[in-house]
Amino acid sequence: MSQNIAFIGLGNMGGPMAKNLIKKNFKVTVYDLNQDAVAELKAAGANTAGSATDAVKEADVIISMLPNGAIVKSLYIGSKGLINHLKKDVLIIDSSTIAADDARAVAKACEQQGIAMIDAPVSGGTAAAEAGTLTFICGGQQAHFEAAKTVLTAMGRNIFYAGASGAGQVAKICNNMLLAIHMIGTAEALNMGAQQGLDPAVMSEIMKASSGNNWSLQVYNPYPNVMPNVPASKDYQGGFMVDLMSKDLGLSQELAAQSGSATPLGSLATQLYQIHRAGGAGKLDFSSILQLLKKTQS
Ligand code: NAD
Repeated sequence: MSQNIAFIGLGNMGGPMAKNLIKKNFKVTVYDLNQDAVAELKAAGANTAGSATDAVKEADVIISMLPNGAIVKSLYIGSKGLINHLKKDVLIIDSSTIAADDARAVAKACEQQGIAMIDAPVSGGTAAAEAGTLTFICGGQQAHFEAAKTVLTAMGRNIFYAGASGAGQVAKICNNMLLAIHMIGTAEALNMGAQQGLDPAVMSEIMKASSGNNWSLQVYNPYPNVMPNVPASKDYQGGFMVDLMSKDLGLSQELAAQSGSATPLGSLATQLYQIHRAGGAGKLDFSSILQLLKKTQS
C-alpha cells in the first residue's frame, strides 16, 4: 500500500517535488499559504487541506520545503506545533535549507515525542526538482534515513547520508557557499569577455572545455540567452531567489564563526549578494548577480 504523504511548502522547489510524488503514485495531501500554488497541485492530483494540521492528520510521512528556519520551527514545535498532532510512527523529512542548530532543535523536540525526523536539504535547483533528479543531503539517525529512502528516491537521484542530526544542513550550506562563489566568478569572467567583444556563448563553450568549467557554466549560465530555459534567459524569473541565497550565505558565515573557519571568499560573496538584494533584486534568481557587475562597471 502506498504511503500517505503530507507536503507543506509548494514554491519553486516544493511544487515540482510534490508533483513527482504524485506521478510515482504516492497519496499526497498538500498545504501552502499561497492558494495559487495549492490549486496547481490540486489540478495535478493532490488532496488539499485547509491547514497544516489537517494536512498531516493521516500522514505516514511529512515533507516540508519552506523558506527559513523560523518558519520550520514554528510549523513543527512550540505550543501550536504539528508534533503535538502526529501519529507516533510518522517520519518528518524537512528539505528546507535552514541553520543546522534549528534542524537539531526540531529533531530534539521530535525525539522527545518519539517522532522520527531527518534534515534532508536538496541541491540541484528547480530543473532537478522538476526532473526528479535532486541530490538529497541527509542528517539524523541512520535508521530514519533508511526509512526515508523510498520517498526521497521518488524525487531525487543522489541520496547522501552526511551524519547525525544537522549534518545535512552543514553539508548543504558548505555547498551553497561554494555555489555562490563560482556563480559570481562565472558571471565576472563572462562579463569581462563580453566587454572585450567576445560572444558569451562562445566563451562559455571554451571555458566548459577548459579549467574554468563548473556547474554554473554547465547547467545555469548567468548570461542571458546563452542557454535556453535557465532563469538568465527568462529575465531572471523563477529559480533560486537572491533572498534565499543571501539567507544561505548568512548561515555560512554563522557556521564559519561557530567553527573558527576562514571563509574570505564566502564573506565577500555574502556582501555582494547583500548589496544586490538591497538594490531590489531579492526576488530575482541568484544568477542575476551579473546585473550587479554590469551596474558597477565603468
Ligand atoms: P519559495 O519561496 O518559492 O517557496 C516557499 C513556499 O513556502 C511558498 O509557496 C510559500 O507560500 C510557502 N510558505 C511559507 N510559509 C509557509 C507556512 N507557514 N505554511 C505553509 N507554506 C508556507 O522557495 P523555494 O525556492 O521553493 O525554496 C524552498 C527552500 O528550498 C528554501 O529553504 C531554499 O533555500 C531551498 N532551496 C531552494 C532551491 C532553489 O533552487 N529554489 C534549491 C535548493 C534549496
